[in-house]
Amino acid sequence: MNIGVLGAGQLGRMLALAGYPLANHFTFLDTTGHPSAGIGDVMIDTDRKHLEAFLEKVDLVTYEFEHLPVSLVQAIEEVRPVYPSSEAIRVCQNRAEEKALFDRLGIPTPAYRLVEHADELEAAARELGCPVVAKSVTEGYDGKGQAVLRDPAEAHEAWRAINHPRLVVEAFVDFVREVSIIAVRGRDGEVAFYPMAENQHVDGILRYSIAPLPDLDEGVERVADGYIRSLLDELDYVGVLTLELFQCADGSLLANEMAPRVHNSGHWSIDGAVTSQFENHLRAIQGLPLGDTTARMPTCMVNVIGREGEAAEILALPDAHLHRYDKSERPGRKLAHVNLLAPTHGALLERVRACAALLPDAPAPRFSFE
Ligand code: AMP
Repeated sequence: MNIGVLGAGQLGRMLALAGYPLANHFTFLDTTGHPSAGIGDVMIDTDRKHLEAFLEKVDLVTYEFEHLPVSLVQAIEEVRPVYPSSEAIRVCQNRAEEKALFDRLGIPTPAYRLVEHADELEAAARELGCPVVAKSVTEGYDGKGQAVLRDPAEAHEAWRAINHPRLVVEAFVDFVREVSIIAVRGRDGEVAFYPMAENQHVDGILRYSIAPLPDLDEGVERVADGYIRSLLDELDYVGVLTLELFQCADGSLLANEMAPRVHNSGHWSIDGAVTSQFENHLRAIQGLPLGDTTARMPTCMVNVIGREGEAAEILALPDAHLHRYDKSERPGRKLAHVNLLAPTHGALLERVRACAALLPDAPAPRFSFE
């Protein structure tokens, strides 16, 4: 099977690494001019001249990056199967569409307003009550294109800083923890759920994900599974979908955003689950049976961002698995991740702290259940 991937970053790299045992071949189409997959056949297509050549090489198409022109994905859909569909991209790349879908399916979100002018932003901040978070409706990721307003009077400055014609303004959630649920849906509609992960972000960027959680109420996990199942079924989705949520003190969940792809908060599954999110995505899009999503052991993913530590020191930690993306160091750049496993959450936290101490720019790990 020749699989075409739109985007050529580390997610594409890890898809290919999971696909080689299945004898899959990978061709990446990079529209940014800065591919980093470093594996498979990478076609750079900044001038949109290579699409035909790309399509000739592939049997089906998937993506590892959702900020693509919907028209491009629709055009590809005319000639090759695309999983997940262009409809998933259309919804997931636009926060307003995403929120409308959450509303329609009864998935709770933080209170929000859509605004198209600085004065409307000020009015929304007043109505929702500060603090609020303003986010550009499109193109934002890893906390980019966002501003927190502590006072409605900051609206004009925030509007200028974000510099986007349409924003979603959300009430600031006083969450106990951030979590994500990852699920995979096959071509036949079969769905499998990964255990929920707790995610620690610093400045909008994911730093640690841990799964499964030692103190998660089964009812809460069932609610999250229900939310993501309704999204998968509504979109007639094929592949891996990620839903990021805030968990509040009363246990309730509020949906933040979703990603129509394998996700950084699922990297723990490479070593920590029976079948990784990458393999399951490939199984789903090829119409193969889905693999077991159970966790083998408590697992924590530690992102390596900006600067790398000494590989030899990291690998000397027990049950530590280093996944490097073969990229050059740059502030804020995701360069690698380390998966750590341990038989108990207590032992795992010790390993996570020991690992963080070996990484030059790692923030202190903090989890809600400590
Ligand atoms: P996002 O790009 O929407 O995932 O936002 C990046 C990060 O900003 C999230 O992971 C949260 O840590 C924080 N954040 C976003 N929206 C809110 C909100 N409504 N209330 C509190 N924190 C938020």
